[in-house]
Amino acid sequence: MSEPVAQQRILKGISASPGICIGKAYLVDKAGVDVVEKYFIPDEKLQDEVKRFKAAVKKALDEFQTILENRPEELQRDYILETHLALLKDKMLYGKTIETIQSEGVNAEWALRKIVSSLKATFETMGDEYLKERAADVGHVSDAIMGNLVGAPSHNIAAIDKRVILVAQDLSPADTSQINLERIKGFITNRGGKASHTGIMAQALEIPAVVGLEIATTAIKSDDVIIVDGNTGTVILDPDEQTLVEYEERKSDYEEYRAVITRESHLAAETTDGVQLQVMANIEFPEEIVSVKNYGGDGIGLYRTEFQYMNRPEFPGEHELFEKYREVVEVMAPMPVTIRTLDINGDKAIANHSGLDEANPALGLRAIRYCLRKPDVFKTQLRAILRAAAYGNVRILFPMIAAYFEICEALKALDEAAESLEKDGLPYTREIEIGIMIEVPSAVVLADLLAEKADFFSIGTNDLIQYALAIDRGNRNVAHLFQPLDPAVLRLIQQVADVSREKGIEVFMCGEMAATAQHIPLLLGMGMDELSMNPQSIPRAKRVIRSLKVSDARAIVKDALKKKTARGVFEIVQEAYGDILAELDYH
Ligand code: PEP
Ligand code: MG
Repeated sequence: MSEPVAQQRILKGISASPGICIGKAYLVDKAGVDVVEKYFIPDEKLQDEVKRFKAAVKKALDEFQTILENRPEELQRDYILETHLALLKDKMLYGKTIETIQSEGVNAEWALRKIVSSLKATFETMGDEYLKERAADVGHVSDAIMGNLVGAPSHNIAAIDKRVILVAQDLSPADTSQINLERIKGFITNRGGKASHTGIMAQALEIPAVVGLEIATTAIKSDDVIIVDGNTGTVILDPDEQTLVEYEERKSDYEEYRAVITRESHLAAETTDGVQLQVMANIEFPEEIVSVKNYGGDGIGLYRTEFQYMNRPEFPGEHELFEKYREVVEVMAPMPVTIRTLDINGDKAIANHSGLDEANPALGLRAIRYCLRKPDVFKTQLRAILRAAAYGNVRILFPMIAAYFEICEALKALDEAAESLEKDGLPYTREIEIGIMIEVPSAVVLADLLAEKADFFSIGTNDLIQYALAIDRGNRNVAHLFQPLDPAVLRLIQQVADVSREKGIEVFMCGEMAATAQHIPLLLGMGMDELSMNPQSIPRAKRVIRSLKVSDARAIVKDALKKKTARGVFEIVQEAYGDILAELDYH
């Protein structure tokens, strides 16, 4: 009798990195680090317990260091492992755990668990999605120490010697850094969201990944055959013959499609009726300019500068900032580099140990508000930007402008920075374009006034949607309401575009909305001059633009603006562009 064939099962997760892979599963186990018992240590043994903890940290430090030194080139630009090394030595984690062992007389595992839970809770309540993800970093670091404390066998991903797909509860950046691209085809995890570092690293490695699958490690065993579709966030367990054939085909179609659009991405994004849009890149680190160039970016539309300020005891000085900015500006020249001033908020200040305690950080001392309150921090950055501007094509962009006086004060600070550079006799240029992020509804209302102070607007839909629709951008419970096609959002964008046209300034979009193929016809029709997005999305965006006609897109916008729901708007786009978008419907 033949063995019963397992029925194929379809599991839905979150797409973290595009692409399709088919192969055998390899379960990465993290036994022993989740269940922790509490016991008391007699006073005379407390010092030994502290020593045991220190040894576990030291071992974790050595392990991270080794991984860091051996990580693949694709991940050299990612600073997350450096962050983990710093976290291991951080007094909030290291010092507090030791303190707890001593003051409460408990075992190291229990003390660590206690400190980590409260640290994670602090990060998790933060308004900013990036900082929320730092809770995961604390978890990864504590897992590494815990593994050493309980003597759990550490899984050695680097030693895997067959072609497999990793299946894990979670993969820390340290784990991901050990991925050997010749062996690991892709991975899936129980935990994680779209903005998790694991996903970001999978994208950098360009391997398919699905995260947030919840039951991956219980449903899948090592050696099970699985299909990972990173484009749709789907995993198929024990696929039947027909599904396998279908996915082999999809996989080769997808690979061919990526190769074609990447080749084409160096062409201009010009519509069929001759209108050219600039398709720019959003970056966080100078190292990303390599992918911007690979993917045919027309410049940097948003350089988020805050990451250079985080996870370190002191803010960077002018020289360090200048060097980083100059690197980007010189490599990109003559293409523009849009440097956004510090979009730090109360929470990010906490990450820097200069504690601000705000009940509503998203509505708190964030971005320009913070900079105007800390003139020295602001001036240091403004001087660095003006100095870098002497080396290429720089634009400056001010985030979170919500009131007219804020842009006036920001410009005054910029003039003062220029004057001080003049006095110091340092090379700089003040002849740079001034941009205002439109991401707070009051800025939309005041757009006509703000336009007098700027050369361009850049619409930040991530925040504009958050503030206009009252939806925390990082809250899973209301994620379904976060709809870029909501008629209220479209009207706001149209209003900004109309005012820009009237006032003769340019209008760009750098929020995530611009990275989605389905939105591009509307954005074109509404009159965006430039779209900026993560580098990987550029080839697809350019391809969409090249297949559109502006006059058609304008007509569609007219219809879309009459719709009452996001669904209604979506249907209009589908009806008009379904065919074009279906061809691109990989992500
Ligand atoms: C935005 O808000 O849309 C934006 C681009 O800025 P960030 O995501 O950095 O807040
Ligand atoms: Mg924003």
